[in-house]
Amino acid sequence: MFSILNMKFDFDSLFPTTTHPKICEKNGFGGKKFAPVRKWSKKADKYPCKSSRFYSAPFHARNNALSIGRKLYNLALKAKLSDEPLEFTFGGEEGKTSVDFLKYNNKTNPEKTLRAQNDFLSLINNKAPAFQAYALLGLALHTVQDYFAHAVRVDLFCARNNYYFFEGFIPVSEYKNIPVYEVDELIGVSNNDIEDNIRVMSWRYNAACRLTSALSEMWKSNREIDSLTAEPTGSVKFYKRTKGLLSRKKFWTIAYKEYGCEINKTSV
Ligand SMILES: [Zn+2]
Repeated sequence: MFSILNMKFDFDSLFPTTTHPKICEKNGFGGKKFAPVRKWSKKADKYPCKSSRFYSAPFHARNNALSIGRKLYNLALKAKLSDEPLEFTFGGEEGKTSVDFLKYNNKTNPEKTLRAQNDFLSLINNKAPAFQAYALLGLALHTVQDYFAHAVRVDLFCARNNYYFFEGFIPVSEYKNIPVYEVDELIGVSNNDIEDNIRVMSWRYNAACRLTSALSEMWKSNREIDSLTAEPTGSVKFYKRTKGLLSRKKFWTIAYKEYGCEINKTSV
């Protein structure tokens, strides 16, 4: 069985890093005013925000990416509407704003994990509220965009003789309900090939754009988000891929459904 804890799967290459500011720019966060937001949507893939072999940072394709993204967005809005800088903490000190949900997951090195987590905190503490707002918003956008790039779930089938759903299909292996970030590793191709390729299952890219655009509308009218969910919907579709030559040839089929996204907002 493959698990999200398996170290060999990466969490941060994602869509190519430059895709994030592009999605922001085209979907409501264009222009000079939002330049810092676009910058931070990219900074999510730099230290101390990126994941490493030592730890998993919260801004990428964790399974709860939509929940993390929603909370980041709401914090960004709180900073936007605040006259004073917010003081963030991983603890529960009174008068400070808890960012408990952003705790880093240790993979192999607790000291490095803690250091990166604290370095992140010092990036956003003691800064002007406008800075805090744009930084957190950029990270929020990166996080929810990553969800569609990497965390959405698919079924993967492999056969020696034919593609799934065709006559004479003899399955060799099947992996049910796995996140997209595991697919490239199982097939044995690079992440750029399938997972980070916005042309493969391009609905993922389009969903990231639509959600970014919806968030920009809410941001501009100062609305908080109550809930943000996405579920597979519609009919099953297939992406097919062969790998290997002659007797080593394998026929891979990804079976997937597109995800529909739902945002519930607090009215002002
Ligand atoms: Zn990322």
